[in-house]
Amino acid sequence: MKLRTLPIEFQQALPVMAQIQASGYEAYFVGGSVRDVLLGHPIHDVDIATSAFPAEIKAIFPRTVDVGIEHGTVLVLTDEEQYEITTFRTESTYQDFRRPDHVSFVRSLAEDLKRRDFTINAFAVQEDGTVIDLFEGLVDLEAKILRAVGNPHERFHEDALRMMRGLRFVSQLGFTFENETFAAILENHALLGKISVERIFIEFTKLLLGDYRKDAIEKFVATECYQYCPGLREKGAGLLSFAALPTEVFATEEAAWTVLLDQLGLSEELVGPFLRQWKVSNEFRRTCRELLWGLQKRKQASFTPMELYRLQEKALVVESLLPYYGLKTHFANVKAGLEALPIHSLSELGVNGHDLLQHFQKKPGIWLKEVLAYLEQAVVEKNCQNEKVPLLALATAYLKEQG
Ligand code: ATP
Ligand code: MG
Repeated sequence: MKLRTLPIEFQQALPVMAQIQASGYEAYFVGGSVRDVLLGHPIHDVDIATSAFPAEIKAIFPRTVDVGIEHGTVLVLTDEEQYEITTFRTESTYQDFRRPDHVSFVRSLAEDLKRRDFTINAFAVQEDGTVIDLFEGLVDLEAKILRAVGNPHERFHEDALRMMRGLRFVSQLGFTFENETFAAILENHALLGKISVERIFIEFTKLLLGDYRKDAIEKFVATECYQYCPGLREKGAGLLSFAALPTEVFATEEAAWTVLLDQLGLSEELVGPFLRQWKVSNEFRRTCRELLWGLQKRKQASFTPMELYRLQEKALVVESLLPYYGLKTHFANVKAGLEALPIHSLSELGVNGHDLLQHFQKKPGIWLKEVLAYLEQAVVEKNCQNEKVPLLALATAYLKEQG
């Protein structure tokens, strides 16, 4: 088969391919971008595979960066673009079901394509558009089938992450597993326990964001892969109730994870420990925690001013999650509520700690934080004007009452 026209992203890379070939080596487009071109999907990264070894690529191009030279990848910079160029390789020396710590560079395209995960990811495209399809990937693409290249048992033993990648392609593409491939996942799911959480997180998050996540989550549960993901061992039922939600695509990773956390029955306080196991950034954890807190409030009732004050712009994200629960959104109300807030942070309060210390001639202590929080709430709830005199009067009354 031959592509009649190369996508613009491939055309732009042709001079780079030509230079490699002029030096006596082979070069092909490979990986996800080829799959996506054949599916008519937009492409993001253009991957080029070559028979040249990394040092040979570096000798051809004046501007390169060693982005992953131990895996054979060199980044080649041109005036317009940059391309990851990876030497053909095999990954024969697998240690313990993880990514091999040693790769061997080879000169054969077929060897390189053989180590790829699924037939639909194992194409190579020549500069003239000819598609090299050694594993009948075109047939599988047409039939929307995910089939491991070669023996699925061996392939999942070599790298168990491939099972999660398969599930994420189910979610992104709406494909179904070929029977033996599915059976091999079912049988080998426990090997996922050997895979680093960070690698699983990337694939699982892509799964959550896919158009066909319902099917993918159901297979994630049916194959028991979930049992070997952090914190999910007891959560089969929660995952299935997540799968059963309306199928709209999630706008962001945080949105998807927040709804998932909710369906898993986690409360706000448990989000931190749960996501810590997934080794996400502090920022990601904090955002999900806030969103979950807001979501659980908003499912009960409209936002109060204090809730809006705490959530700020995140209130709009929470609002966008309501349709998953069959609830109507009221974005205009939320926006109006946010705009109507008298202050948006403690720094906008009409008095500060220093004012209070001076006024009450007391030593700093826990009382100071409490008074500020009390005044902040009074202003947000419009029970007090945000000005010094009424705020100090309110603080006086508060302290008196507290004794
Ligand atoms: P995406 O469109 O999300 O980038 P992709 O298929 O391109 O999907 P990448 O992680 O970019 O995924 O990998 C590029 C290619 O490398 C894949 O298409 C596949 O051929 C191969 N590949 C990636 N990860 C593995 C793996 N764990 N085992 C075997 N082959 C892999
Ligand atoms: Mg890719």
